[in-house]
Amino acid sequence: MNLVFTILALVAFWAAIRIFFQIVRSRQCLDDRTIRDYLSGKYQQGSEDSRRVTSHLGNCQKCRDRLTNFDFEEYAKKVLEEED
Ligand SMILES: [Zn+2]
Repeated sequence: MNLVFTILALVAFWAAIRIFFQIVRSRQCLDDRTIRDYLSGKYQQGSEDSRRVTSHLGNCQKCRDRLTNFDFEEYAKKVLEEED
Protein backbone atom coordinates (compact mmCIF):
# COMPACT_ATOMS: atom_id res chain seq x y z
CA MET A 1 0.00 0.00 0.00
CA ASN A 2 2.76 2.36 0.98
CA LEU A 3 4.74 1.53 -2.12
CA VAL A 4 1.79 2.21 -4.40
CA PHE A 5 1.27 5.53 -2.70
CA THR A 6 4.95 6.43 -3.10
CA ILE A 7 4.88 5.58 -6.78
CA LEU A 8 1.72 7.60 -7.34
CA ALA A 9 3.22 10.53 -5.49
CA LEU A 10 6.37 10.34 -7.60
CA VAL A 11 4.37 10.20 -10.83
CA ALA A 12 2.31 13.20 -9.78
CA PHE A 13 5.43 15.05 -8.73
CA TRP A 14 7.12 14.32 -12.06
CA ALA A 15 4.05 15.45 -14.00
CA ALA A 16 3.95 18.70 -12.01
CA ILE A 17 7.64 19.35 -12.76
CA ARG A 18 7.09 18.73 -16.47
CA ILE A 19 4.14 21.11 -16.60
CA PHE A 20 6.12 23.70 -14.66
CA PHE A 21 9.01 23.55 -17.15
CA GLN A 22 6.64 23.68 -20.10
CA ILE A 23 5.14 26.87 -18.69
CA VAL A 24 8.57 28.37 -18.07
CA ARG A 25 9.68 27.49 -21.60
CA SER A 26 6.51 28.84 -23.18
CA ARG A 27 7.13 32.18 -21.44
CA GLN A 28 10.57 32.55 -22.98
CA CYS A 29 10.62 34.65 -26.10
CA LEU A 30 11.26 32.86 -29.35
CA ASP A 31 14.65 33.13 -31.00
CA ASP A 32 15.14 33.83 -34.70
CA ARG A 33 15.83 30.21 -35.52
CA THR A 34 12.61 29.07 -33.86
CA ILE A 35 10.61 31.68 -35.75
CA ARG A 36 12.22 30.66 -39.03
CA ASP A 37 11.59 26.96 -38.39
CA TYR A 38 8.02 27.65 -37.39
CA LEU A 39 7.35 29.76 -40.48
CA SER A 40 8.93 27.25 -42.80
CA GLY A 41 6.68 24.56 -41.38
CA LYS A 42 9.47 22.54 -39.80
CA TYR A 43 7.49 21.87 -36.64
CA GLN A 44 4.87 19.17 -37.01
CA GLN A 45 1.41 20.34 -36.07
CA GLY A 46 0.53 19.16 -32.60
CA SER A 47 4.14 18.45 -31.69
CA GLU A 48 5.51 19.79 -28.42
CA ASP A 49 7.59 22.45 -30.17
CA SER A 50 4.73 23.63 -32.28
CA ARG A 51 2.44 23.83 -29.27
CA ARG A 52 5.05 25.77 -27.32
CA VAL A 53 5.45 28.31 -30.13
CA THR A 54 1.71 28.66 -30.61
CA SER A 55 1.00 29.11 -26.91
CA HIS A 56 3.80 31.65 -26.59
CA LEU A 57 2.51 33.58 -29.58
CA GLY A 58 -0.87 33.67 -27.91
CA ASN A 59 0.62 35.49 -24.93
CA CYS A 60 3.31 37.64 -26.47
CA GLN A 61 2.56 40.54 -28.76
CA LYS A 62 6.27 41.16 -29.31
CA CYS A 63 6.85 37.71 -30.81
CA ARG A 64 3.66 37.96 -32.89
CA ASP A 65 5.06 41.16 -34.40
CA ARG A 66 8.43 39.54 -34.98
CA LEU A 67 6.75 36.61 -36.68
CA THR A 68 4.67 38.85 -38.93
CA ASN A 69 7.65 40.99 -39.88
CA PHE A 70 10.15 38.17 -40.08
CA ASP A 71 12.60 38.74 -42.89
CA PHE A 72 14.15 35.53 -44.22
CA GLU A 73 16.69 37.43 -46.26
CA GLU A 74 17.85 39.45 -43.27
CA TYR A 75 18.10 36.28 -41.21
CA ALA A 76 20.15 34.49 -43.88
CA LYS A 77 22.56 37.42 -44.03
CA LYS A 78 22.95 37.45 -40.27
CA VAL A 79 23.66 33.73 -40.15
CA LEU A 80 26.22 34.02 -42.93
CA GLU A 81 27.93 36.89 -41.13
CA GLU A 82 28.11 34.90 -37.92
CA GLU A 83 29.71 31.97 -39.71
CA ASP A 84 32.60 34.09 -41.01
ZN1 LIG B 1 7.80 36.56 -26.82
